[in-house]
Amino acid sequence: MKRLNPPTFTAAKAVEACASGISIVERAQALRDAVPVIVASEAQYQELGPLGQLFSMEQSEQVTEAINAELMGVIYKSHFARGGSPSRPLYEQIRMAPEHGLCPLCGQRVVATVDHYLPQSRYPKLNLTPVNLVPACSDCNKRKLASAPAQAEEQTLHPYFDNLGDERWLVAAIEASTPPTVSFFVQASSEWDAVLTARVRRHFEVMGLAPLYAAQAASEMADISYALEEVGQAAGPTGIRAHLDAQFRSRHARDRNSWKTALYEGLRDSAWFCGEGYHLIRHRVV
Ligand SMILES: [Zn+2]
Repeated sequence: MKRLNPPTFTAAKAVEACASGISIVERAQALRDAVPVIVASEAQYQELGPLGQLFSMEQSEQVTEAINAELMGVIYKSHFARGGSPSRPLYEQIRMAPEHGLCPLCGQRVVATVDHYLPQSRYPKLNLTPVNLVPACSDCNKRKLASAPAQAEEQTLHPYFDNLGDERWLVAAIEASTPPTVSFFVQASSEWDAVLTARVRRHFEVMGLAPLYAAQAASEMADISYALEEVGQAAGPTGIRAHLDAQFRSRHARDRNSWKTALYEGLRDSAWFCGEGYHLIRHRVV
Protein backbone atom coordinates (compact mmCIF):
# COMPACT_ATOMS: atom_id res chain seq x y z
CA MET A 1 0.00 0.00 0.00
CA LYS A 2 1.10 3.54 -0.73
CA ARG A 3 0.42 6.39 1.61
CA LEU A 4 -1.43 9.40 0.24
CA ASN A 5 -2.00 12.86 1.62
CA PRO A 6 -5.68 13.25 2.51
CA PRO A 7 -7.77 15.58 0.33
CA THR A 8 -7.42 19.21 1.32
CA PHE A 9 -11.12 20.11 1.22
CA THR A 10 -13.85 19.40 3.76
CA ALA A 11 -17.13 17.52 3.57
CA ALA A 12 -18.98 20.85 3.91
CA LYS A 13 -17.24 22.12 0.77
CA ALA A 14 -18.00 18.88 -1.11
CA VAL A 15 -21.67 19.06 -0.11
CA GLU A 16 -22.03 22.71 -1.13
CA ALA A 17 -20.34 22.12 -4.50
CA CYS A 18 -22.59 19.12 -5.06
CA ALA A 19 -25.79 20.91 -3.98
CA SER A 20 -25.03 23.88 -6.24
CA GLY A 21 -25.20 21.54 -9.25
CA ILE A 22 -28.53 19.93 -8.32
CA SER A 23 -31.44 21.46 -10.23
CA ILE A 24 -34.12 19.59 -8.26
CA VAL A 25 -34.76 22.28 -5.63
CA GLU A 26 -36.04 20.02 -2.83
CA ARG A 27 -33.15 17.60 -3.26
CA ALA A 28 -30.55 20.38 -3.14
CA GLN A 29 -32.22 21.78 -0.02
CA ALA A 30 -32.40 18.36 1.66
CA LEU A 31 -28.68 17.93 1.03
CA ARG A 32 -27.85 21.36 2.45
CA ASP A 33 -30.03 20.56 5.48
CA ALA A 34 -27.90 17.46 6.05
CA VAL A 35 -24.66 19.44 6.42
CA PRO A 36 -24.56 19.39 10.27
CA VAL A 37 -25.02 15.59 10.33
CA ILE A 38 -22.39 15.09 7.61
CA VAL A 39 -19.91 17.43 9.30
CA ALA A 40 -20.37 15.69 12.68
CA SER A 41 -19.74 12.32 11.01
CA GLU A 42 -16.63 13.67 9.31
CA ALA A 43 -15.28 14.91 12.67
CA GLN A 44 -15.76 11.46 14.19
CA TYR A 45 -14.07 9.85 11.18
CA GLN A 46 -11.08 12.19 11.50
CA GLU A 47 -10.78 11.21 15.13
CA LEU A 48 -11.06 7.44 14.64
CA GLY A 49 -9.06 7.15 11.41
CA PRO A 50 -5.59 7.79 12.88
CA LEU A 51 -6.41 5.36 15.72
CA GLY A 52 -7.27 2.58 13.27
CA GLN A 53 -10.79 2.39 14.67
CA LEU A 54 -13.03 3.30 11.76
CA PHE A 55 -14.75 -0.06 12.17
CA SER A 56 -16.49 1.44 15.21
CA MET A 57 -18.23 4.19 13.20
CA GLU A 58 -21.96 3.81 13.58
CA GLN A 59 -23.81 2.34 10.59
CA SER A 60 -27.10 3.86 9.46
CA GLU A 61 -29.66 3.62 6.70
CA GLN A 62 -30.58 7.28 6.80
CA VAL A 63 -28.56 10.47 6.56
CA THR A 64 -31.50 12.57 7.67
CA GLU A 65 -35.22 11.94 7.59
CA ALA A 66 -35.34 13.23 4.00
CA ILE A 67 -32.26 11.37 2.69
CA ASN A 68 -31.84 7.61 2.89
CA ALA A 69 -28.85 5.55 1.73
CA GLU A 70 -30.36 4.98 -1.70
CA LEU A 71 -30.94 8.67 -2.37
CA MET A 72 -27.45 9.49 -1.06
CA GLY A 73 -26.10 6.95 -3.56
CA VAL A 74 -27.95 8.76 -6.34
CA ILE A 75 -26.62 12.11 -5.11
CA TYR A 76 -23.05 10.78 -5.18
CA LYS A 77 -23.27 9.15 -8.59
CA SER A 78 -25.59 11.47 -10.50
CA HIS A 79 -24.54 14.77 -9.00
CA PHE A 80 -21.24 14.73 -7.07
CA ALA A 81 -19.25 12.58 -9.52
CA ARG A 82 -21.11 13.47 -12.72
CA GLY A 83 -18.92 14.82 -15.50
CA GLY A 84 -19.39 18.58 -15.91
CA SER A 85 -20.94 19.09 -12.46
CA PRO A 86 -19.55 21.84 -10.15
CA SER A 87 -18.29 19.12 -7.78
CA ARG A 88 -16.54 17.02 -10.45
CA PRO A 89 -13.21 18.90 -10.03
CA LEU A 90 -13.22 17.82 -6.35
CA TYR A 91 -13.85 14.21 -7.39
CA GLU A 92 -11.00 14.49 -9.91
CA GLN A 93 -8.70 15.95 -7.27
CA ILE A 94 -9.13 12.72 -5.29
CA ARG A 95 -8.92 10.40 -8.29
CA MET A 96 -5.79 12.03 -9.72
CA ALA A 97 -3.83 12.27 -6.45
CA PRO A 98 -1.57 9.17 -6.74
CA GLU A 99 1.82 9.45 -8.39
CA HIS A 100 1.79 8.06 -11.94
CA GLY A 101 -1.93 7.30 -11.55
CA LEU A 102 -1.20 4.04 -9.70
CA CYS A 103 -3.72 2.55 -7.30
CA PRO A 104 -2.54 3.08 -3.70
CA LEU A 105 -4.20 -0.15 -2.55
CA CYS A 106 -2.22 -2.54 -4.79
CA GLY A 107 0.56 -0.22 -6.02
CA GLN A 108 0.36 -1.88 -9.42
CA ARG A 109 -2.81 -1.28 -11.40
CA VAL A 110 -4.06 2.04 -12.73
CA VAL A 111 -6.60 4.15 -10.81
CA ALA A 112 -10.00 3.89 -12.44
CA THR A 113 -12.42 5.11 -9.81
CA VAL A 114 -12.93 6.46 -6.32
CA ASP A 115 -13.66 3.93 -3.58
CA HIS A 116 -15.65 4.57 -0.41
CA TYR A 117 -13.43 3.15 2.33
CA LEU A 118 -16.51 2.68 4.51
CA PRO A 119 -19.16 1.55 2.01
CA GLN A 120 -21.97 3.78 0.81
CA SER A 121 -24.78 1.36 1.60
CA ARG A 122 -23.94 1.25 5.32
CA TYR A 123 -22.40 4.66 5.90
CA PRO A 124 -24.40 7.09 3.73
CA LYS A 125 -23.41 10.02 5.95
CA LEU A 126 -19.87 9.55 4.60
CA ASN A 127 -20.76 9.39 0.89
CA LEU A 128 -19.36 12.83 0.08
CA THR A 129 -16.77 12.97 2.86
CA PRO A 130 -13.34 13.50 1.25
CA VAL A 131 -11.31 11.45 3.78
CA ASN A 132 -13.58 8.46 3.13
CA LEU A 133 -12.94 8.69 -0.64
CA VAL A 134 -9.86 6.83 -1.84
CA PRO A 135 -8.62 6.50 -5.42
CA ALA A 136 -8.58 2.85 -6.51
CA CYS A 137 -8.22 0.57 -9.53
CA SER A 138 -11.38 -1.26 -10.53
CA ASP A 139 -10.06 -4.62 -9.27
CA CYS A 140 -9.31 -3.34 -5.76
CA ASN A 141 -12.63 -1.48 -5.76
CA LYS A 142 -14.54 -4.66 -6.67
CA ARG A 143 -12.57 -6.84 -4.29
CA LYS A 144 -13.43 -4.65 -1.34
CA LEU A 145 -17.14 -4.84 -2.20
CA ALA A 146 -19.64 -3.42 0.28
CA SER A 147 -18.55 -5.42 3.30
CA ALA A 148 -18.00 -3.44 6.47
CA PRO A 149 -15.25 -4.37 8.93
CA ALA A 150 -16.74 -5.75 12.17
CA GLN A 151 -13.51 -5.48 14.14
CA ALA A 152 -10.15 -3.72 13.96
CA GLU A 153 -8.30 -6.69 12.44
CA GLU A 154 -10.73 -6.87 9.51
CA GLN A 155 -9.99 -3.37 8.26
CA THR A 156 -8.02 -3.12 5.04
CA LEU A 157 -5.36 -0.42 4.96
CA HIS A 158 -6.32 3.23 4.63
CA PRO A 159 -3.88 5.27 2.51
CA TYR A 160 -4.66 8.52 4.36
CA PHE A 161 -4.12 7.17 7.86
CA ASP A 162 -2.04 4.01 8.00
CA ASN A 163 1.72 4.18 8.20
CA LEU A 164 3.64 0.94 7.69
CA GLY A 165 6.97 2.46 8.68
CA ASP A 166 10.39 2.22 7.07
CA GLU A 167 11.29 -1.40 7.58
CA ARG A 168 11.15 -4.01 4.84
CA TRP A 169 8.04 -6.16 5.16
CA LEU A 170 7.26 -7.47 1.68
CA VAL A 171 9.35 -10.54 1.01
CA ALA A 172 9.78 -12.74 -2.09
CA ALA A 173 10.65 -16.42 -1.82
CA ILE A 174 12.35 -17.98 -4.84
CA GLU A 175 11.49 -21.60 -5.53
CA ALA A 176 14.12 -23.71 -7.27
CA SER A 177 11.85 -24.96 -10.03
CA THR A 178 11.80 -24.92 -13.83
CA PRO A 179 10.98 -22.18 -14.54
CA PRO A 180 11.90 -20.44 -11.27
CA THR A 181 8.78 -19.30 -9.41
CA VAL A 182 8.39 -16.48 -6.94
CA SER A 183 5.90 -16.14 -4.14
CA PHE A 184 5.28 -13.03 -2.07
CA PHE A 185 4.39 -12.78 1.56
CA VAL A 186 4.17 -10.29 4.41
CA GLN A 187 6.84 -10.46 7.09
CA ALA A 188 5.64 -8.42 10.07
CA SER A 189 7.71 -5.32 10.80
CA SER A 190 8.91 -4.83 14.38
CA GLU A 191 7.21 -1.41 14.21
CA TRP A 192 3.74 -3.00 13.93
CA ASP A 193 1.46 -4.14 16.69
CA ALA A 194 -0.66 -7.30 16.39
CA VAL A 195 -3.66 -5.43 14.96
CA LEU A 196 -1.67 -3.69 12.23
CA THR A 197 0.01 -6.99 11.33
CA ALA A 198 -3.41 -8.64 10.97
CA ARG A 199 -4.63 -5.72 8.90
CA VAL A 200 -1.70 -5.81 6.47
CA ARG A 201 -2.26 -9.55 5.96
CA ARG A 202 -5.98 -8.95 5.52
CA HIS A 203 -5.29 -6.20 2.96
CA PHE A 204 -2.92 -8.51 1.08
CA GLU A 205 -5.57 -11.22 1.00
CA VAL A 206 -8.57 -9.05 0.08
CA MET A 207 -6.76 -7.25 -2.76
CA GLY A 208 -5.30 -10.51 -4.08
CA LEU A 209 -1.76 -9.14 -3.98
CA ALA A 210 0.17 -12.45 -3.75
CA PRO A 211 -1.05 -13.81 -7.12
CA LEU A 212 -0.91 -10.31 -8.69
CA TYR A 213 2.74 -9.84 -7.72
CA ALA A 214 3.67 -13.43 -8.62
CA ALA A 215 2.32 -12.91 -12.15
CA GLN A 216 4.14 -9.59 -12.49
CA ALA A 217 7.37 -11.17 -11.21
CA ALA A 218 7.16 -14.04 -13.72
CA SER A 219 6.81 -11.49 -16.51
CA GLU A 220 9.67 -9.38 -15.14
CA MET A 221 11.96 -12.42 -15.04
CA ALA A 222 11.14 -13.26 -18.64
CA ASP A 223 12.01 -9.64 -19.51
CA ILE A 224 15.45 -9.77 -17.89
CA SER A 225 16.47 -13.33 -18.80
CA TYR A 226 18.37 -12.30 -21.95
CA ALA A 227 20.43 -9.73 -20.04
CA LEU A 228 21.09 -12.22 -17.26
CA GLU A 229 22.45 -14.76 -19.79
CA GLU A 230 24.88 -12.12 -21.06
CA VAL A 231 26.00 -11.17 -17.57
CA GLY A 232 26.30 -14.85 -16.61
CA GLN A 233 28.51 -15.60 -19.62
CA ALA A 234 30.78 -12.65 -18.94
CA ALA A 235 31.00 -12.71 -15.14
CA GLY A 236 29.41 -15.91 -13.76
CA PRO A 237 27.31 -16.15 -10.58
CA THR A 238 29.23 -13.30 -8.91
CA GLY A 239 28.39 -11.03 -11.82
CA ILE A 240 24.73 -12.11 -11.73
CA ARG A 241 24.56 -11.36 -8.04
CA ALA A 242 26.14 -7.90 -8.49
CA HIS A 243 23.77 -7.13 -11.36
CA LEU A 244 20.72 -8.14 -9.30
CA ASP A 245 22.01 -6.17 -6.34
CA ALA A 246 22.21 -3.00 -8.45
CA GLN A 247 18.63 -3.61 -9.61
CA PHE A 248 17.54 -4.14 -6.01
CA ARG A 249 19.22 -0.96 -4.75
CA SER A 250 17.64 1.12 -7.50
CA ARG A 251 14.12 -0.16 -6.63
CA HIS A 252 14.79 0.06 -2.90
CA ALA A 253 15.81 3.72 -3.16
CA ARG A 254 12.37 4.54 -4.53
CA ASP A 255 10.09 2.14 -2.64
CA ARG A 256 11.31 -0.26 0.02
CA ASN A 257 8.27 -2.46 -0.22
CA SER A 258 7.36 -2.67 -3.87
CA TRP A 259 7.10 -6.16 -5.36
CA LYS A 260 10.11 -5.31 -7.56
CA THR A 261 12.26 -4.44 -4.56
CA ALA A 262 11.26 -7.74 -2.93
CA LEU A 263 11.80 -9.68 -6.16
CA TYR A 264 15.32 -8.38 -6.79
CA GLU A 265 16.30 -8.92 -3.18
CA GLY A 266 15.01 -12.50 -3.31
CA LEU A 267 16.77 -13.22 -6.61
CA ARG A 268 20.02 -11.65 -5.41
CA ASP A 269 20.00 -13.65 -2.20
CA SER A 270 19.25 -16.97 -3.90
CA ALA A 271 22.55 -18.77 -4.53
CA TRP A 272 20.61 -21.27 -6.62
CA PHE A 273 19.13 -18.55 -8.86
CA CYS A 274 22.47 -16.73 -9.33
CA GLY A 275 24.24 -20.02 -10.09
CA GLU A 276 21.82 -21.87 -12.36
CA GLY A 277 18.23 -20.73 -11.83
CA TYR A 278 18.54 -17.81 -14.20
CA HIS A 279 19.15 -20.27 -17.08
CA LEU A 280 15.77 -21.85 -16.44
CA ILE A 281 13.53 -18.82 -16.98
CA ARG A 282 11.05 -19.77 -19.62
CA HIS A 283 10.55 -17.18 -22.33
CA ARG A 284 8.13 -17.69 -25.08
CA VAL A 285 8.97 -15.81 -28.27
CA VAL A 286 5.87 -14.26 -29.79
ZN1 LIG B 1 -5.52 -1.56 -6.93
